[in-house]
Amino acid sequence: MAGAELIGNEEIKEVMEVLETGVLSRYDFHDKRKGVYKVAEFEKAFADYLGAAHALGVTSGSAALKVALTALDVGHGDEVIVPAFDFIATYESVLEVGAIPVMADIDDTFNLDPGAVEKRLTSRTRAVIPVHMCGSAARIEEIVAVARKHGLLVLEDNAQACGGSVGGKKLGTFGDMGIFSFDYYKTMTTGEGGLVITDSKRLYDRADWYHDHGHDHNPAVGRAQEGRSFLGFNYRMGELQGAVGLAQLRKLDEIIAGQRRNKAALREALSTVPGITFREHVDPAGDTATFIGFSLPDERAARALQGELKDNGVDSIYYKENAWHYAPRWEHLIAGATANSKGYPFTSPLYTGTVDYSVEHIPHAEDLLARSLFMAVPVIMTDERSRAVTQGIEKAAAAM
Ligand SMILES: *Cc1c(COP(=O)(O)O)cnc(C)c1O
Repeated sequence: MAGAELIGNEEIKEVMEVLETGVLSRYDFHDKRKGVYKVAEFEKAFADYLGAAHALGVTSGSAALKVALTALDVGHGDEVIVPAFDFIATYESVLEVGAIPVMADIDDTFNLDPGAVEKRLTSRTRAVIPVHMCGSAARIEEIVAVARKHGLLVLEDNAQACGGSVGGKKLGTFGDMGIFSFDYYKTMTTGEGGLVITDSKRLYDRADWYHDHGHDHNPAVGRAQEGRSFLGFNYRMGELQGAVGLAQLRKLDEIIAGQRRNKAALREALSTVPGITFREHVDPAGDTATFIGFSLPDERAARALQGELKDNGVDSIYYKENAWHYAPRWEHLIAGATANSKGYPFTSPLYTGTVDYSVEHIPHAEDLLARSLFMAVPVIMTDERSRAVTQGIEKAAAAM
């Protein structure tokens, strides 16, 4: 549960500063707010932390994906390549802007395989969304190189590896745009919330306008007095979220350090399991360690280990059967069941391709996820809890 484990006086102090002014909106009310602009401060601090030029706070990670795809002008008739092992929001965001998500295979990082991008390429492909799942990076430099070769846009979904890096460069900053989620389960949290980052002023402006009904936020004339380029919607982050985000961001490196310590202890205990191999990391030094992933020689062994772990009080996740993280399990996606009765965008006359979510496109995901387990890594683990878990793992290992 990462950042949620550490909510305390720092978050309370930040939130109280907002409540003392009574101004809960990030915009306007300049004479009432006594210089308190938490969302703007959070955006600036987050962009500096990542080394990105621009950050825009929004209501959720899902909203961030939709705002970013809209800023990139991805839409009707387009295809967007996304990994088969993912959280469903990535697929939903593509459909929300009227485009079609195309499911692609993963590699031993458990993330999008750069080679699979080329396999799923068509004349309609506009963009690719690499997703850094379970705390650790995709082969992002290779994916960006493949995308550049074919003229594709890159939107990095970094909802799950906030603070992670490759070669010292923070995840989210490799593509044209990046997104983050701060929902309650993520590495740092604002309850609900998200953020879009980019180095492009043009893309930032488009995201900014779209996320607030087309307002261009020109400080010289004031909000709602300005010129408007296009229609938008409301995905504004509120001041209470911005306040919590500031306090959580200051704890982010501490969160990651705690997880890394606990992950090392889990890894040591798991090493006693016969035949175990660990998830491949593109850059182990940049792993945020929110999860530990490992594989067994076959499905039977993975299921047996999960049973033994459970009997010894240790929870693990078998993602191949998880309802939200593996595309072949999404019956509503496969049925083309969007929320409108006309079935858009799958039925759009602007879409000239054929939708195909069959598992023949993802042989590596089918094999790897069938024989792999994950465990969530806490930030805080008492010595007592740590002993109980490592002993549970060692007992399970001995039974294998
Ligand atoms: C959580 C998550 C999202 C969506 O974020 P919300 O803030 O919950 O809307 C998007 N992508 C991935 C990979 C996620 O894990």
